[in-house]
Amino acid sequence: MSMGQSLAVANGCRVQLPSREIQLSVKRQSRKTIAIHILSKDEVEVRAPLKCAWREIDRFVDQKMAWIVKAAEECEPAKPPTRYLENSIHRYLGEELRLSLVRGKPAFVGVDNDFIVLRCMDPGNETLVRKHLEAWYRRQAERHLPARIAWLNRLFVDGVNVPRVTVRKMKARWGSCDGRNEVCINSLLMSKSQDEIDLVLVHELCHLRHFSHDKSFYGLLGRVMPDWQAREKALQA
Ligand SMILES: [Zn+2]
Repeated sequence: MSMGQSLAVANGCRVQLPSREIQLSVKRQSRKTIAIHILSKDEVEVRAPLKCAWREIDRFVDQKMAWIVKAAEECEPAKPPTRYLENSIHRYLGEELRLSLVRGKPAFVGVDNDFIVLRCMDPGNETLVRKHLEAWYRRQAERHLPARIAWLNRLFVDGVNVPRVTVRKMKARWGSCDGRNEVCINSLLMSKSQDEIDLVLVHELCHLRHFSHDKSFYGLLGRVMPDWQAREKALQA
């Protein structure tokens, strides 16, 4: 199907682009207006009111087609799930390392050249391997981050105490602070480079001085870490 043709989205349709196709589907909902949701680079959902005429939906989609194509284009491809198999790539301190799985006990995880060597009783069990690997990231974070944050806190020269660091796995954030001189850091931050780790720690140290992301927060961040923007870009990449 190409742009401009009748869309007939009733049964779902495909928008053929030079290099790929976009799958369009319609979902009826109890709502007042039509909305378009870009689900992925090649999957778009049109949400329409229960009684909205198909002709009206077609017209709406037709009008928005250029926008849909552009928005879908800009949509990041869905990340494939992380695997925990022999030779799967995992990052540690910004380096790409390969998983080397060994059967045995006691359980052990350690870095050896370009490998993360992981020994456990059932190395074919991805859930178990993941559990051991995540526990190892957490131990590394608990071992290294408190000293690092103490060192970075000295850059502020304002006498504010070094915060207590707790480490846990967080879904959506690298760090958070509660305003009680305690910061919480995502254990998976250990997969990032030292520059990126330092950015997250300094960001939280700035929050101990300025709670919200206001002018004074960014002023302080810029003084303590002048290249914070480049580091943030790397962290989000
Ligand atoms: Zn923040």
